[in-house]
Amino acid sequence: MATADSTPFSTFEIPPTRRHVETIDFMLSRPALALLPESLRPAARGFLAYLATLPGSAPHVCPVCDSRAIHLAMPAGTRGMRRDSYLCRDCRKRFTVLTGTPLRLLRSEEKWKPWMSYRFQGFSQELIANFLGISNKASMTWSRAFLKAMADYDTELHAWWQAHQSTEISELTEEAARALAECQAMLAGLRATSDRRCPHCGSASVQVITSRRATEYQCHGCQRRYSNLTETPLSHLQHIELWPDYVRHLVLGYHDTELEQIFDLSKPLTNLWRQRFLQLLQARWPLLAHWTLWQWSRRRANPGNVPLA
Ligand SMILES: [Zn+2]
Ligand SMILES: [Zn+2]
Repeated sequence: MATADSTPFSTFEIPPTRRHVETIDFMLSRPALALLPESLRPAARGFLAYLATLPGSAPHVCPVCDSRAIHLAMPAGTRGMRRDSYLCRDCRKRFTVLTGTPLRLLRSEEKWKPWMSYRFQGFSQELIANFLGISNKASMTWSRAFLKAMADYDTELHAWWQAHQSTEISELTEEAARALAECQAMLAGLRATSDRRCPHCGSASVQVITSRRATEYQCHGCQRRYSNLTETPLSHLQHIELWPDYVRHLVLGYHDTELEQIFDLSKPLTNLWRQRFLQLLQARWPLLAHWTLWQWSRRRANPGNVPLA
């Protein structure tokens, strides 16, 4: 598996058929740690608090020799120093609370927590740089530093997070896997359902006129025809038999070129399908829409070097 250090620089590009602003709004409207497994959310919350409070906290031990015999040697502001400087009575080294941590060279500490919080929400570091008004270069540096700090802070959280930063297809959380199974079952059911009420007038008095592709009906109430797909985001899409498998690939973050090959779709159809399925997910399984957008931007950097499932 590629480490995050070699591939942390995915650019955030919204799928071209989604409007940038809408997508960002949607992601921002989601619960902050929704992408993480439930069991890791307390650690993630703790890590965010750690980033917020560490720079202003006081060290307990010397980072060089671990001695507790330390004292404040020079308060912040003295000779233009940004942080309190401490002195170790045992090894005589000077240090600050960040000495020896991966965060020691980073600036703008008031933005550390928001940066990581946006990251947990699935935004790329490039977009976060934009949000917070820092340079892309700084954002890349922070990404590496925070990943290291996370490893020191909580190994489990770090292991999961790092695995989900690589360009390989990564595991869904249990919650997302459940949602996906539900969604796939619904899609499979669309083929089989033959008792849909009329979406126009609500009448149940209908006649099934064909059940070849997606069942079609004739309504006795309003006399209109409709199908299982009428007034859903999936109306007029073909190959209903491929949808359960397609949506799995979409959610896992497969890219346009991969989807085109696997499902034998043209470029315009690949766009149309993604747009329509995202609409469906956003309305009924927002976690899956969120996950899809996250994975899409993450794997965008380096698509094509993954084995096709
Ligand atoms: Zn010391
Ligand atoms: Zn009707």
